[in-house]
Amino acid sequence: MDTVLVLNANFEPINVCNMRRAVGMMVVDKATLVLNGRGEIKTVSCVFPKPSIIRLQKMVHRPRPKARLTRKEVFRRDNFICQYCGTSSKDLTIDHVIPRHIGGEHIWTNVVTACSMCNHRKGGRTLNQSGMRLYHSPLEPPSSAFYIFGRHLVENTDWEPFLIGW
Ligand SMILES: [Zn+2]
Repeated sequence: MDTVLVLNANFEPINVCNMRRAVGMMVVDKATLVLNGRGEIKTVSCVFPKPSIIRLQKMVHRPRPKARLTRKEVFRRDNFICQYCGTSSKDLTIDHVIPRHIGGEHIWTNVVTACSMCNHRKGGRTLNQSGMRLYHSPLEPPSSAFYIFGRHLVENTDWEPFLIGW
């Protein structure tokens, strides 16, 4: 509940930060409040609205955010489904399609979600060697703001209209 969405001056979603940092940016006029909805913060001398979304006063130029290659993000891309057997086991692992020991890279197009049984079955082998098949070829996930920040939507449903279209 402490996560704040940061919009660029043109309203493009560019980042998330914590409440403390968001309020800090508002206090020094680096950002303005776009959406409240979380009550207030009282200090000795002032009362601040607790932001859910803030917007930078000045446009910053930075590359489009991308989904970080983490276990969680790989599972999310693959809808938490083993890409070999199609089950949505709780016991998910990351499999390198081309195994790392023969030069397979740790990149989006070489990692898939695999249940521990399938991962064990495949072992350190390639698809050909193991005779296993993938449900989908792994791709880099979308770079839309809706996708990138989508993992926060469960707790921050009020962000949705600000993520659509970027
Ligand atoms: Zn499996």
